[in-house]
Amino acid sequence: MNITDLRSDTVTKPTPEMLQAMFAAPVGDDVYGEDPTVNALEEKAAAMFGMEAGLFCPSGTMTNQIAIKVHTQPLTEVICDITAHIHQYEGGGIAFNSGASTALVHGNRGKMTPAQIEANIRPLDNVHFPETKLVALENTCNKGGGTFYTLNEIAAISEVCKRHNLALHLDGARVFNALVASGDAAKEYGLYFDSISICISKGLGAPVGSVLLGTKDFIKRARRVRKVFGGGMRQAGYLAAACIYALENNIKRLKEDHRKAKAMEETLLQTDYVESVLPVETNIVIFKLNDKYTDADFVAALAKEGIRATAFGPQMIRFVTHLDITDEMMQHTLSVLKSLSKQQVEV
Ligand SMILES: *Cc1c(COP(=O)(O)O)cnc(C)c1O
Repeated sequence: MNITDLRSDTVTKPTPEMLQAMFAAPVGDDVYGEDPTVNALEEKAAAMFGMEAGLFCPSGTMTNQIAIKVHTQPLTEVICDITAHIHQYEGGGIAFNSGASTALVHGNRGKMTPAQIEANIRPLDNVHFPETKLVALENTCNKGGGTFYTLNEIAAISEVCKRHNLALHLDGARVFNALVASGDAAKEYGLYFDSISICISKGLGAPVGSVLLGTKDFIKRARRVRKVFGGGMRQAGYLAAACIYALENNIKRLKEDHRKAKAMEETLLQTDYVESVLPVETNIVIFKLNDKYTDADFVAALAKEGIRATAFGPQMIRFVTHLDITDEMMQHTLSVLKSLSKQQVEV
């Protein structure tokens, strides 16, 4: 059976064209700064986002954690939404790597307002409090169901940060989905963020790779932290070549993933087992089951039909669309979702 894997957009495999680009890459020792393909990727990504410099890393967790390490000191604090990946899914790394705490905002589906951020900034003249140093946004918001910030919203948050002398970091693991959905220009991001983490291993389909972007001085310090974290890779140009290929070929097509996610939402809303669906904005579909199925039973029922999904909390299910989901898989998924609606649940 052909498996339709909707667990995440990280499950994609390189295409023959991407593999060809990897085989053909000129490489060198990147710890010595001598890998031309890594250097080209770092420059390309920085230019795209209007930033000065880039740093190639093995994962988005590493790019986020390096950025937080460089922006903070122990006993300082990071403001982020309570659903943020840096808080929920990076193993408590902020406390471990940086000795910093988090001020958690209850935003709307992962999105914080400028007023919410401002309300969480600690007064400077009181020894009880940690010192606020950094605000971190996630775009798109994973746990929010793929919601995105527009450039106008980002500009308003940046204004608050500048006024209070705080750094602004972007966890842009799915920033390309946000850009395609909003129509905003990547280059403008450089006006507002002090650092940006982008993942090429998600919707863009590279096997490995994230890039941290910032000023030359920031990246110089980040490079030192990357080495300490064990992320200094040698002939990494083979991986960077896949990332360059992905940046050049796989951004525009993300709207196809968004269309597929929207079709899943429409089908789910017509079934008898769904209580609610978070309105789909990009490539993530998060929905809540009523009591016809438990989340574990629903995931098992899909698995019987060759469809893999993620149980995402009590009665919650997540699908993520990506470039390895073919039109046939899509048809199959919609028909299985419909058929589960009519079926009696076997106990
Ligand atoms: C996937 C993801 C990351 C980074 O994950 P890695 O698996 O470490 O590359 C960071 N932030 C968000 C929102 C993500 O979805």
